[in-house]
Amino acid sequence: MGQKIICKSCAAEFDANLVRCPYCGTAYAPAEEKEYMGKLEAVREDLHQEIQKGDRRIGKKMGRTVRNILIVIGVILLLVFGVLWITARSERAGSDRKKQEFLQNQGITTQQEVETDGM
Ligand SMILES: [Zn+2]
Repeated sequence: MGQKIICKSCAAEFDANLVRCPYCGTAYAPAEEKEYMGKLEAVREDLHQEIQKGDRRIGKKMGRTVRNILIVIGVILLLVFGVLWITARSERAGSDRKKQEFLQNQGITTQQEVETDGM
């Protein structure tokens, strides 16, 4: 409203709402453009506020959903880790036997390889 612009041709300062420079008469279309842009801006602002309102509404719902999903994921993770922990414990108990078996198997394989090489 009280904005001033400087004329491009005579460098005089005049009201931004004027379509023409009052000193040299140079046409100054931006005033019209500004009004149009101002309307656009107002519309955009309204839209933006509506979207924000919607977002907040969705945000509340989303927050609840996200929390539920996080709880479910947490429970699943606990179950998985619990199972892994139990498996690891029982595996550790039998790991020595397994290691011996594994070494024996390796030994047999090596022996077989030796036999094949020998032949
Ligand atoms: Zn001028």
